[in-house]
Amino acid sequence: MRINIKQLRDGSLREKQFEFTADISEIETTVSKPITISGEITNRAGVLLLSMTMEGERNLVCDRCAKEFSRITSVPFESCIVDHLDNEDDEDYFIVCEDDELDLEELAVSMFILGFESKILCSEDCKGLCHICGANLNEQACNCKEESIDPRLEILQQLLDE
Ligand SMILES: [Zn+2]
Ligand SMILES: [Zn+2]
Repeated sequence: MRINIKQLRDGSLREKQFEFTADISEIETTVSKPITISGEITNRAGVLLLSMTMEGERNLVCDRCAKEFSRITSVPFESCIVDHLDNEDDEDYFIVCEDDELDLEELAVSMFILGFESKILCSEDCKGLCHICGANLNEQACNCKEESIDPRLEILQQLLDE
């Protein structure tokens, strides 16, 4: 999706809203259905402000209990659009668009993926799996003893038993 920002730049248009979908299943395998990108570009006292939200369903696997689940992920993004940078170090803070068309799709997709959480949990208080019997502790309690014997002590115990 490319948006023409010429009229926003010259001030003849104050605001432009947009909404489109993007199929990103080829670059992000957890997202099988197209994501929705919606937002607006506004001219505020000569400064172009981009504000948008990327939203899509992701098929995930819990890092702690290995349960498969799906969740809607919504990532907001805001930035200013400039036609050039005075200082190259500002690259991370602005979107540079030299001509009249801005490629929003590429930007939105990369910001959506960058916004993903680093640790995936089915719920904040996921109890995970028992490290002894492998039971999913969210679904059942197991009878494994909490304190397992230190393996070094276990060898010592065997020696003493002989
Ligand atoms: Zn879990
Ligand atoms: Zn157990």
